[in-house]
Amino acid sequence: MIDLHQIERRTYTHGPTALVQLERFSLAIGQGAGPNIYIKRDDELGLIGGGNKTRKLEFIFAQALHQCADTIITCGAVQSNSCRATASAARIEGLACRLALEQRVPNSYDPKASGNNFLYQLLGVEKQNVVDAGNDMNSIMATMADQARHEGRNPYVMPLGAGTPLGALGYVNGANEIMAQAQQIGIQFDAVIHASGGSGGTQSGLLVGFSESKDSPRVIGICSGADKITQQQRVHRLVQGTFDLLMLPPTVSLKNIVCNDDYVGPGYSLPTPLMAEAVQLLARTEGVLLDPVYSGKAMAGLIDLVRQGQFTPDQNILFLHTGGVPAIYHYKDDVMLHL
Ligand SMILES: *Cc1c(COP(=O)(O)O)cnc(C)c1O
Repeated sequence: MIDLHQIERRTYTHGPTALVQLERFSLAIGQGAGPNIYIKRDDELGLIGGGNKTRKLEFIFAQALHQCADTIITCGAVQSNSCRATASAARIEGLACRLALEQRVPNSYDPKASGNNFLYQLLGVEKQNVVDAGNDMNSIMATMADQARHEGRNPYVMPLGAGTPLGALGYVNGANEIMAQAQQIGIQFDAVIHASGGSGGTQSGLLVGFSESKDSPRVIGICSGADKITQQQRVHRLVQGTFDLLMLPPTVSLKNIVCNDDYVGPGYSLPTPLMAEAVQLLARTEGVLLDPVYSGKAMAGLIDLVRQGQFTPDQNILFLHTGGVPAIYHYKDDVMLHL
């Protein structure tokens, strides 16, 4: 395991998240001939609504506090889980939070929307700077940081989805937690399947985290928006950066990074029938909610790969639930599609 003890970290979750078997769900999709499916409940991490950003933010906020920042500036889509988790962590640490929000779907910003948008307001986000798709979000955040400095603030800018090597350490830590739990229950995972999104940090962190273990599972990232080549390159860059940060030799090559873009459908955050089926099936067999933008499409991928016969009945597959549940209330018509 990669030792992270030397690196400053805040803690936003009490103890490890649950890792449990999904017996009824495995039976429903594999009909007795499928693999054993487990779930890692990172939707139950700390910060309102949990999700994968919480692990990343533990390292990011430690750095921001070290730099005596008083204002966090970050960006995301209009229903960003990352922005909501950041706003929540900012409150815990007593910092202000300002957001740059990108309308990836034209006119998708609605100040009265529920889900994460409502939570930005409830958490008292100081500024929401809404821009159209295609803007350079880093330069918009740089301008917001200049403005904050002008006001006498000391801003810390966090790139999209905490997609830096420091943020990726969150999932090096996550991989360590998974390996310890697998050992505890006495199994080995053949594959870990999860949503791979705009920063690629989750997949990068997992790949680095598993890289030192000899029986490391295959990591399968299901794209939430990007095509697979773009995503593979994005993950590769961040893998390299993360190895650099840890001062370790880079042992994960581009060809070993698996990204699957078969389940994106018409585009980022747009619904697909298989996503709706996945969300409904997991809710009705296990009482666990998925979100329509990320984890629902990732689970659609898992279901389809099982149906294609990609796994044998003796294999153990881990679904990493990356969160996003607060957004489900905003997208209720999408997940009830084709009922
Ligand atoms: C942000 C997000 C992702 C994507 O995370 P990456 O580390 O950028 O791949 C996946 N799932 C949910 C629910 C998210 O909010």
